[in-house]
Amino acid sequence: MSRKKLSLPARSGADVVDDWPPNIEDIRAVLPVTDRNIFAYGHTIYNPGGGRLPLELIAHEEVHFQQQAEEGPVKWWAKFLADPKFRLDQEIPAHRVEHRVFCKYNRDRNEQAQHLRRLGQRLAAPMYGSLLTVNQAMKAIR
Ligand SMILES: [Zn+2]
Repeated sequence: MSRKKLSLPARSGADVVDDWPPNIEDIRAVLPVTDRNIFAYGHTIYNPGGGRLPLELIAHEEVHFQQQAEEGPVKWWAKFLADPKFRLDQEIPAHRVEHRVFCKYNRDRNEQAQHLRRLGQRLAAPMYGSLLTVNQAMKAIR
């Protein structure tokens, strides 16, 4: 697979690569991964499907960069995969930032509500351990 580097807005320090992250086998052992998923590792966003990366998704991954900076991506990912509670603790702030950035650029109330529901469904899904209902997830994100 190619490793094409894409450029992002200057204010983002993130690199984007259309490839799988280095620990993809560990991730696959735990999570139902598809090539529509994107991954933060170190200071790189891995986007294997090469899909469009809206600003709010980049902002979400940047939260994970900050979280990983404390102990490094190897330890962070190990905990993230081993402990669904830790996973949720990391994902709630990332989803909150994602929704805040979306709302900043999309002033339509209906689109904002739809976005919140989409994020709630994502956070409540098996990918993150199914630890919440959709409504609980929406409350946590809002
Ligand atoms: Zn995330």
